[in-house]
Amino acid sequence: MNKNMYGLFIDGAFVKPVKGAYQDVHDPATGDLLAKTAKGSKEDVEKAVEAADRSKNLWKTVSIQQRSRILHKIAEIIRENKDHLARIETQDSGKPIVETVEDVKAIADQFDYFGGAIRVEAGEFMRQDQHSMTMILREPHGVVAQIIPWNFPFLLAGWKIAPALAAGNCIVIKPASETPLSLLEFARLTQDVLPNGVLNVVTGSGSVVGPALLENLKVDKIAFTGSTKVGRSIGEAAAKRILPASLELGGKSANIIFPDAPMDKAIEGAALAILYGQGQVCNAGSRLFVHSSIYKNFVEKLERIFRNVKIGDPADPATRMGPLINKEQLDVVLGYVETGIKEGARLVCGGKQIEKSPFDKGWFMEPTLFADVKNHMKIAQEEIFGPVLVVIPFETEEEVTAMANDSKYGLAGACWTKDINRALRVANGVETGLFWINEYHLTPSGTPFGGIKESGHGRENHKMALDAYSRLKTIYISMNESPT
Ligand code: NAD
Repeated sequence: MNKNMYGLFIDGAFVKPVKGAYQDVHDPATGDLLAKTAKGSKEDVEKAVEAADRSKNLWKTVSIQQRSRILHKIAEIIRENKDHLARIETQDSGKPIVETVEDVKAIADQFDYFGGAIRVEAGEFMRQDQHSMTMILREPHGVVAQIIPWNFPFLLAGWKIAPALAAGNCIVIKPASETPLSLLEFARLTQDVLPNGVLNVVTGSGSVVGPALLENLKVDKIAFTGSTKVGRSIGEAAAKRILPASLELGGKSANIIFPDAPMDKAIEGAALAILYGQGQVCNAGSRLFVHSSIYKNFVEKLERIFRNVKIGDPADPATRMGPLINKEQLDVVLGYVETGIKEGARLVCGGKQIEKSPFDKGWFMEPTLFADVKNHMKIAQEEIFGPVLVVIPFETEEEVTAMANDSKYGLAGACWTKDINRALRVANGVETGLFWINEYHLTPSGTPFGGIKESGHGRENHKMALDAYSRLKTIYISMNESPT
């Protein structure tokens, strides 16, 4: 296979797909062909699951000390290859290099984090009384299937792989068809560190590989990150099999600005909350609530930032916004702009594709600001997944908390104020899995990440993810040989 042609990674090696089919992977900034990756079939999934199943008894008996050392070694490999992995991620996803470098560093830290966490979370022991005790053993599920979206291809793969390996599972993982390259490179880089079959990567279409994983009876757990629509179908299929499923889904997070906010930071934060990753971020601060007393001024300052964002070649460290992932996504986002105008929202700036992009091609879009939005409008209720911010004025804390909660989603949110009591009241009142005060987007290892409501369930990026990748077995022991 040539350099830009990837097979499936099964049983420790790259192999050709059973049906010999490949799909093209494009650079969203230029439209250029980057690579061809295998189009996995049901038969390929079977081979990958078989490999994982054969390896599970070996991997689960590798001592915790040794597993931990391997995770730390993987962290080292990621750091050594930081520039290579970030460059591939940027080419494949269009995300600015300043962002992908941070993703890669975060994943190196994620492997260190779980390498440490498994040492202290190996299980529990309790003495009940002088005659009896309880042991709680942490056992791996066995074979876990993991499905990843295209918006954080490496970061979200790492958030799943690290805890699953630490807990002693073998993995079959499927990246999004749009962005498989960083994960395939990761498999290549860790080929000599992990025993064969412990990590398997099956590329291909979600509608083929996904059901093949869910229907395979040797799969013991499924973890999915992606849209609520697909997540719901995965949840239903998993429920039929009584298969444990973690679902990390969509969002429409509320970002709330009070009049006593640290104003310069709040304005920058509100822009970053939506423009980071071109707004293709599940926890994007896509619904901005601004107190009516500062509303006009705040919108004007945001407009200035939106009109001056450095959009360009994602590989340039000065670039802050790259292209959207593909034409389909751009069309979806442009469709929402039309909807917003029809609904009567005021388009302050943006709303169009950038034809004169650095390469005069690619799927670049103007940062888009809608003001005077009502919370019931479609553009305030549905996940747009692009650089489109809707701004809604409010009067009181109670009103804004109620509006923040008037959403089917509950992934993230934030408020900006110097009043700590108010900040904590709002943080308590907003129904969400994660809430920032005077900050946005930061999720260092150890920050539980996950949603409530239709944003899904389960938490990643924290040692509690070890529970999702483990079966806990309780053994109650009586040491008293005479009847009581
Ligand atoms: P998607 O649901 O279309 O696809 C996600 C993954 O599922 C891809 O790998 C895809 O190939 C696969 N897939 C598609 N159909 C499938 C099927 N029938 N069975 C099994 N797998 C299938 O989502 P996307 O467009 O790649 O990503 C964007 C979505 O992901 C947004 O809604 C975003 O909010 C969400 N997301 C959530 C989180 C989180 O942690 N909550 C993080 C990132 C992205």
